[in-house]
Amino acid sequence: MNRDKVKIAQIEVCETAKKMYHSGLVAGTWGNISSRVDEEYMVITPSGMDYDRLCADDMVLVNMKTFEYEGRLKPSVEVPVHSAVYLSRPEVNGIVHTHSTYALTMATARKPIPPICDDQVQILGGDVRLAAYTMPGTKEMADEVVKALKDRGGALIANHGAITIGRNLAEAFTGSQVLEKTALIYINTQSIGGPAEISREDVEFFHDFFMTKYGQKWKGDRA
Ligand SMILES: [Zn+2]
Repeated sequence: MNRDKVKIAQIEVCETAKKMYHSGLVAGTWGNISSRVDEEYMVITPSGMDYDRLCADDMVLVNMKTFEYEGRLKPSVEVPVHSAVYLSRPEVNGIVHTHSTYALTMATARKPIPPICDDQVQILGGDVRLAAYTMPGTKEMADEVVKALKDRGGALIANHGAITIGRNLAEAFTGSQVLEKTALIYINTQSIGGPAEISREDVEFFHDFFMTKYGQKWKGDRA
């Protein structure tokens, strides 16, 4: 494995973890973030640590097939979920998992989010499915999450939280903010008769536009 790539991933994961913490998407040490290094390795946040006190070297290098890790800190207990997503989705290079309030409200009601906002369908690819309730850190959860994420950039996890993925970590982080906002909008619209859904045709058009034409090429993009 390329050590320079590991270093870059550690810096990226650490910076994004601090950003996530200060954005209010997580409370305490809940939630975790990772970035792919290559087909075999990823860098992930350590388990149960105060994000504000962490430095890049504390981000843990993990083998996605054996779960063996390198470093003095234990990796997040959600290693199986992150690994399963990377191994099944070669185009994915970044993952953000949160227990953010509004996404968790939907996940606790065990309700998926229909396609209702333009930015949602662009970055998340359509409706946000719900992964069935399973124990955190298990293969069952990994399988359920991979299933719920099929052809999507984000999913809810029943009674637990949300997960978003991207061609790079910045995209996955934006996805987590968009998912949280979409959940809030969905809940708000319940008091005024419920949301109007975006048609399947428009969902496909917007998502394709986002994936192929929108924005600038990311610097150092590995996609
Ligand atoms: Zn979690």
